[in-house]
Amino acid sequence: PSAHDLQALATATPERTDAFWMPFTANRQFKKSPRLLASAEGMYYRSVDGREVLDGTAGLWCVNAGHGHPHIVGAIQKQAATLDYAPAFQMGHPLPFILAERLAAIAPDPLKHVFFTNSGSESVDTALKIALAYHRVRGEGQRTRLIGREKGYHGVGFGGISVGGMVNNRKFFGSMLPGVDHLPHTLDIKRNGFSRGLPARGAELAEDLERIVALHDASTIAAVIIEPISGSAGVVLPPEGYLKRIREICDKHGILLIFDEVITGFGRVGKAFAAQRFGVVPDMITTAKGLTNGAVPMGAVFTSKGIHDAFMHGPEGAIELFHGYTYSGHPLACAAALATLDVYESEGLFEKSIELGPYWEDAIHSLKGLPNVIDVRNYGLVGAVELAARPEGVGQRGYEVFNRCYFEQNLMVRCTGDVIALSPPLILNKEHIDRIFDRLAATIRATA
Ligand code: PLP
Repeated sequence: PSAHDLQALATATPERTDAFWMPFTANRQFKKSPRLLASAEGMYYRSVDGREVLDGTAGLWCVNAGHGHPHIVGAIQKQAATLDYAPAFQMGHPLPFILAERLAAIAPDPLKHVFFTNSGSESVDTALKIALAYHRVRGEGQRTRLIGREKGYHGVGFGGISVGGMVNNRKFFGSMLPGVDHLPHTLDIKRNGFSRGLPARGAELAEDLERIVALHDASTIAAVIIEPISGSAGVVLPPEGYLKRIREICDKHGILLIFDEVITGFGRVGKAFAAQRFGVVPDMITTAKGLTNGAVPMGAVFTSKGIHDAFMHGPEGAIELFHGYTYSGHPLACAAALATLDVYESEGLFEKSIELGPYWEDAIHSLKGLPNVIDVRNYGLVGAVELAARPEGVGQRGYEVFNRCYFEQNLMVRCTGDVIALSPPLILNKEHIDRIFDRLAATIRATA
């Protein structure tokens, strides 16, 4: 569409915006005053009305290498002109093999096998299915129970919403997977409010897994899935020692541990994966987003050698796992991912969260004391500012801050309820950090 068309959309004649049913969006509210982005480069979007908008959220937690990186753009263009598509089942092309090998090289031992999907939701459902099938091929098919966590977000497939713990994502959709249970979440503002980095209190919450195991019996439980850091629920951090204890309990009972690293993967917390930063290795890691820098949809599930090898028995001509997607290992996505990995490596982006983490921490905690700020949380280059809900309703203040940041301060943040979440591209510098928090602070002050 021409800039003129986009401008027409921006001024929202209802007939121009009606057809598109927007995801996870207040459609009627949005269409009255659309927030439309026309282009992007580096740390900035350009809105259709010509404003330069600082990207405080790496798009939707995915554009870790910044927007429009020429190496990634060039790789996608070249691939589109070379091989547009190749069937994914019983046929192949070289790129997913090359990509899987490169991904395995940056993943923690023993997660050296990669299954490709097209999104975080598909990665989650894939990992849950692999967990169930793994127990079955080993003769423990009665392990069918899956354990998620309150406030967890694992995408929107039926598997993901079943183990997820965000009520609005679940309550409309009837019965979900049977036999799912949930750990308690680890957000505890009363005891941990304004903690810097990981909260000190709450590791004992991991013991709830023992309670759940005692209730259902370990022999019925296939896997536990948690985000090392919950992003979508408003940046919920693991208390010191919590993840390690979850790992120990899973090991004790033969339960697989899945880390959903769709947000934390690819450098968000200072290593390729949060598993490495926290020194706790799960049996599977689900990823998407930063895998291709958001440029082409793609997800990947990393599995341990033990899980992979458990399937590699029986007649050689037998398909080992009846699962996959038409676009698993799509050529364009692979090209984008390979180029993205080049950029992460050549620009040292996985280390950025460690280099800039302390500056980021000081900057975000400078918001303590502003009106209605009830908590500030941070880790790596992730942060959240939690605001008190207005008496009229949860989420209203958060939405106003988000909307005003965009229109009045040219800053893109995320809001979930009254939590303002931040996760900038990893290419940012200290000036960008100053700008993000100056603008956010001004907006919080201006929003009663
Ligand atoms: N898992 C986690 C932890 C996520 O944060 C998300 C998306 O934000 C997903 C899964 C779902 O990813 P997608 O929207 O690509 O399906």
